[in-house]
Amino acid sequence: MREDADTTQEVYKALLESTRAIPWKIDWKTMTFAYIGPQIEALLGWSPSSWVSVNDWAERMHPDDRDTVVAFCVAQSQSGTDHEADYRALTRDGGYVWIRDVVHVMRNAEGEVEALVGFMFDISERKKAEQQLIDLQKKLEEYSYQDGLTGVANRRMFDSMLEMEWANAQRAGEPLSLILLDIDYFKQYNDHYGHIQGDDCLRNVGQALKNAAIRPRDFVARFGGEEFVLILPGTDEPAARQVAERCRKLIRERCIPHEKSSVASLLTISLGVGSITPTHQDQPLPFVEAVDRLLYQAKQKGRDRLESASWSGSATPGRREEH
Ligand code: GH3
Ligand code: MG
Ligand code: MG
Repeated sequence: MREDADTTQEVYKALLESTRAIPWKIDWKTMTFAYIGPQIEALLGWSPSSWVSVNDWAERMHPDDRDTVVAFCVAQSQSGTDHEADYRALTRDGGYVWIRDVVHVMRNAEGEVEALVGFMFDISERKKAEQQLIDLQKKLEEYSYQDGLTGVANRRMFDSMLEMEWANAQRAGEPLSLILLDIDYFKQYNDHYGHIQGDDCLRNVGQALKNAAIRPRDFVARFGGEEFVLILPGTDEPAARQVAERCRKLIRERCIPHEKSSVASLLTISLGVGSITPTHQDQPLPFVEAVDRLLYQAKQKGRDRLESASWSGSATPGRREEH
C-alpha cells in the first residue's frame, strides 16, 4: 500500500467531495476562491469554475440577506473569529436554497489571516420545518381569538376588545354602542333542518354581520350559541340603530328559509341596542347586562325587531332614558 503525500491528498479530496456538505477555500489576500467542491453544481446549478471572487458569493445571495450576512462575515473574518451564517443562495434557475456556511479562519505563522475555509450545508429542509412551526404558531394565536365555526372573533376576544374600547370611550368622553343579537326560533331551525345546516346558518349569519360593521373600529364577535355581538366605538344610539337595521337587512337578503319560525318564512333576528358615554365610575358588565335586557324585551315584544336605549354619565344602565 502506498502511503505517500499524493495518496493522502487523493483520499482527502475524495472524502471532501463525497460529502453532502460543500467544502470551499478563499484566499484572504486576493479575495478569490482557491477551491470549491464540485457538489456546488448539483445544489445551485453554478459550475465550480464560475466561483471566482467573493463577489460571486455575495451576488448569489438573496438581496434581503446580502448586506447583513456579508458585513457579518467580513467583520468576523477580519477579527479572525470562526463563525457561521445562514442565508438564501441563488440557484442558476432563479430559485433560492437556504445555506448554512460554517467558516474557519486560517492564519499563518505570524498570526495573520491567510485564508478562509468552510463548508456550505443545505439547510432548506430545516428552514421549511421552522417556517411550518412559525405558521402553526400564528394559526394557533389566531384560533385562540377566533370562533372556530363562524370565523368571527370569539367571546374571549370580545371581552378584551370591550375592555379596551370602554377605556377609550371613558378617556375620549365618546359614546360607545353595543348590539346584542339572537336568532329567532333557532332551536326549531336545528330541530327541523338538522345541526349541520344549523351550523351553516350560523356561518352565514356571521358573514352577514361582518358586512354590517363597516367602520374600521367596528367589531363583530360570536357571543355564544346563536348570539352575536357588535361593538361600535364612537357611535351614538341613532347611528347604532342604523347599524342594527343594516344587520336585519343583510340577514334578510341572505334569504335563509325557516319554515318553523312563527314570525316569518325566512330566518330573522332580534336585537338589543345600547349606547353609553361611560364615566370613570362605569363598568362594562352592567352595560352588557342592560343591553341583554333590551334583547329580551325585543323577544317579548314579538321578535324580528330591535329595542334600544342610551345612557349618559354614570346613570346606571338598567333604567331607560329614551328609545
Ligand atoms: P328565541 O327566538 O327565543 O331565541 O328561541 P331560540 O330557539 O332561538 O332560542 P334558544 O336559546 O332556546 O335556542 C338556541 C338554540 O341554538 C339551541 C341550540 O341547539 C342552538 N345552538 C347553539 N349553538 C349552536 C351551534 O354551534 N350550532 C348549532 N347548529 N346550533 C346551536
Ligand atoms: Mg334564539
Ligand atoms: Mg339564544
